[in-house]
Amino acid sequence: MSRYWSDVVHRLTPYVPGEQPRIEGLVKLNTNECPYGPSEAVLAAMAAQTGEALRLYPDPQSSALREAIAAHHGLKPAQVFVGNGSDEVLAHAFLALLKHEAPLLHPDISYSFYPVYAKLYGIQTRELPLAEDFGIRVDDYLAIAREGGAGGIIFPNPNAPTGMVLPRAEIRRLLEGVPDAPVVIDEAYVDFGGESAAALIDHYPQLLVTRTLSKSRALAGLRVGYALGDPALIEALIRVKDSFNSYPLDRVAVAGAVASMQDEAWFAATCARIVATRERLGAALADRGFQVLPSAANFVFARHPGHAGAALAAALREHKVLVRQFPRPTRIADFLRISVGTEAQTDVLLAALDRVLAAA
Ligand code: PMP
Repeated sequence: MSRYWSDVVHRLTPYVPGEQPRIEGLVKLNTNECPYGPSEAVLAAMAAQTGEALRLYPDPQSSALREAIAAHHGLKPAQVFVGNGSDEVLAHAFLALLKHEAPLLHPDISYSFYPVYAKLYGIQTRELPLAEDFGIRVDDYLAIAREGGAGGIIFPNPNAPTGMVLPRAEIRRLLEGVPDAPVVIDEAYVDFGGESAAALIDHYPQLLVTRTLSKSRALAGLRVGYALGDPALIEALIRVKDSFNSYPLDRVAVAGAVASMQDEAWFAATCARIVATRERLGAALADRGFQVLPSAANFVFARHPGHAGAALAAALREHKVLVRQFPRPTRIADFLRISVGTEAQTDVLLAALDRVLAAA
């Protein structure tokens, strides 16, 4: 292959998602899906769109959903952008907002999709190591930005796969010090105990907050995500979307997502249930000798001092329990990222772990 084509192929290195195997009886704790089904109100609203209504194109602006999301956050619809999952929203944000003359800063341990988008769109990146305790060091970002070295900043909060939270006061400090580069806070997991930056939107025009309905609203299969930001940033995202002539969401997805944003009772109860199981899981892992990072997400990140991460993940798989292990960076290779399942799935996981640890 010529150098040109090998460069093209390199630029298009895809993201490697968590496995979605079809193995019967598998306890699937590897992709942070919600272990409970969506609310009845969501299912009914979607069913109502699957008959005669399908004849009609959806609203290209998804206005009903933007209004429902705005109402939920106490913002205006002009501050809301919607897309097919937050991955698509992030893709548009990379294309529309990030600068090209300086690198995009992100933690060395964070969502592995960011470098994929950056490569695709020809955006340079600079990875900043997390602190010893796996926290994000705002001062590192501020120092680089002061020298004009930040074309943008992105990280998940809570971070993935650590689950750890950066307090809102620290995000505010970051925004104060980086006034003229986009700062994207990916809040895919914020509903499980993080501190949202959504309340800062009105004060910082460089801030974009992304969210998903995949985790806390049990709609990973529907593909709905959104961004909150200054109307100018949102308009830029809409222009990118329109340049692809793409409808952001279909009728069924809009109906389900609107119903979900309005079903506060289901949402609150489901988040509380998952948080309670997460606390039980974290304590049970600690009892078994694991180091467990403090999680505000719907997963825990934990390592056992006596076991290599890859071997432990493989042994659990033998017991039909699937968890995620990241070989790189090597600093986290011995950690397992375990999604919070139902109480019954947690029982199965812990029983499997006991057998694996006893056998070793
Ligand atoms: N951000 C982070 C940090 C994630 O872990 C995920 C889920 N893999 C996403 C965004 C994307 O979620 P979705 O596209 O399902 O909205």
